[in-house]
Amino acid sequence: MGSFLKPSSLEIDRLQALEDDAWAEVERQFAGRLYAYVARRIADQQAREDVLQEIFLGAVRGISSFDRVYTLEQYLFGICRNRTIDHLRRRRDATASQSADGADGVNPLDQMAVEAASPGIIVGERDLRTRTRTLLVQVLRDWVQETWGLGEFKRLMVIEALFLGGWRNRDTWERMGLSGERAVAGIKFRALARMRALAGQGVADRGLLEILSEEEGAVGGKEILLVSDEWAASHASCPARHWLARHLNGSLDEGPKSFVEFHLSQMECPWCLANLDDLEQERVAPQTLIERVHASTMNYLRSRTLPREPS
Ligand SMILES: [Zn+2]
Repeated sequence: MGSFLKPSSLEIDRLQALEDDAWAEVERQFAGRLYAYVARRIADQQAREDVLQEIFLGAVRGISSFDRVYTLEQYLFGICRNRTIDHLRRRRDATASQSADGADGVNPLDQMAVEAASPGIIVGERDLRTRTRTLLVQVLRDWVQETWGLGEFKRLMVIEALFLGGWRNRDTWERMGLSGERAVAGIKFRALARMRALAGQGVADRGLLEILSEEEGAVGGKEILLVSDEWAASHASCPARHWLARHLNGSLDEGPKSFVEFHLSQMECPWCLANLDDLEQERVAPQTLIERVHASTMNYLRSRTLPREPS
């Protein structure tokens, strides 16, 4: 699955060197899907533009501490989510000071609370990154990739439902048409055993092996939260964009098709839905908006890279 392709270190080097071309390319590739994400949550056109601008400026500012275990898309969507939340909070606070009751029904903030739990990990805005977490992300990604490669899509869906969806064993067997709760427990047991084996292949990390062991007996303790957090934050099971494109044009085989549909409709993955909007040309950013965002990023880059005038 191509979603696991990490950016080449050359690409990151160029972004860290604040090269205009490299950043323009990132904008070209990602502005559409980021805009689609923002547009699903923010109605006001001017606010969308502001947020999109802040996302790219935030990306430029944070790139020097970019953690190369993540992909660029994960990094950008992490920032995108945070900036969107910031905006919604500010708006909520502004509205709250004017009137006591929120008149506009469902608060998008509540909806966002269930999304990827801790993108702060990705964007380095909180100091939660540890070597163990980094290795955990790698193991989850390896496991998903391997399971996908084996064509074990049912297994993938069950584990995704448990870790990403937070489903309980009982709901999972009923909704997935398995024989019973024990079948779910068995799938989870084997998946964790395999993850431990994968973890052991790299640099052995006792903390990681413990997390994956304790997970087995966990019924919603700290461990399960850690794996779930990392699963969500690293988009461990998000299909690459080309799979979404094939989903749209109906050319997926049965296995991948069932998984992609599950991921979209049952997990309601916000990143993949934003990608889908972008591919379908839904919620397209107006060209003028893209141009203004581009100008703002380039201005900022130049202010950072031009030698200062001698005073
Ligand atoms: Zn996804």
